[in-house]
Amino acid sequence: MLATRRLTAGYGTVPVLFDVDLDVGDGESVAIVGANGAGKSTLVRTICGLLRVMGGEITKDGRAIQSEPPYRRAELGIAVVLEGRHLFDELSLESNLRIAEAQGRKRREARFDFRFDEVLELFPFMKGRMSAPVGVFSGGEQQMVAVARALLLKPELLILDEPSTGLAPKVVREIVGVIQALRKKGMSLLLIEQHIAVAAECSDRAYVLSLGKVVQQLDQHSWHLPSTTDALARAYLGNR
Ligand code: ATP
Repeated sequence: MLATRRLTAGYGTVPVLFDVDLDVGDGESVAIVGANGAGKSTLVRTICGLLRVMGGEITKDGRAIQSEPPYRRAELGIAVVLEGRHLFDELSLESNLRIAEAQGRKRREARFDFRFDEVLELFPFMKGRMSAPVGVFSGGEQQMVAVARALLLKPELLILDEPSTGLAPKVVREIVGVIQALRKKGMSLLLIEQHIAVAAECSDRAYVLSLGKVVQQLDQHSWHLPSTTDALARAYLGNR
């Protein structure tokens, strides 16, 4: 589905990511964990085309995409929920979603063709609130609007940058529920998550990023051992 090879990227002339090799297989959910400043958001921005590649390659289904602009990568089936959500606060919930739905129409042959009403079923709180401006919604609700919008783009790969950060435990559980539903459908996921327990619950495998480099790869078995996640939390994250 998605691969990076010797991916180097950063800001201006200063690299922040160094030779990152990463794979997300078809239908796989892969987590990236690492401390603040490790380069996780930089990796997300580079994969979706908001940052230029300084070296190496990004491929989607074997095709090099590092020179494609962000909108083309979206058309190729890569959708991203960035940290900070980036919604149209003044516009209604319905307008926010319909804009994404219109963009999603460009993907005629999409494998995951979420209809508007199917997306609403995943997020029951939206019912009856279609005309409210999304700026009045809580942080958790806004996060869910951002995920709903990404799904209406009909992605094959959904990238979530810290979906649980700053949210109450009850809301985190709702987001975990949505992620698990998407995994069941067979969607590929790349999940950036500081909350290591949430990351382990929602993914098959993981990469540990430290100072812009992949320092560990964890297969399905080791990633789900409590001793591994405890050790990782102590070594890199200072939390669980
Ligand atoms: P966090 O969880 O805090 O977002 P992160 O792992 O996502 O951390 P990045 O935001 O990717 O880390 O930052 C990696 C490095 O890149 C840091 O050293 C940061 O200071 C630097 N950096 C991030 N954004 C910029 C920018 N716009 N210009 C210059 N340097 C930046």
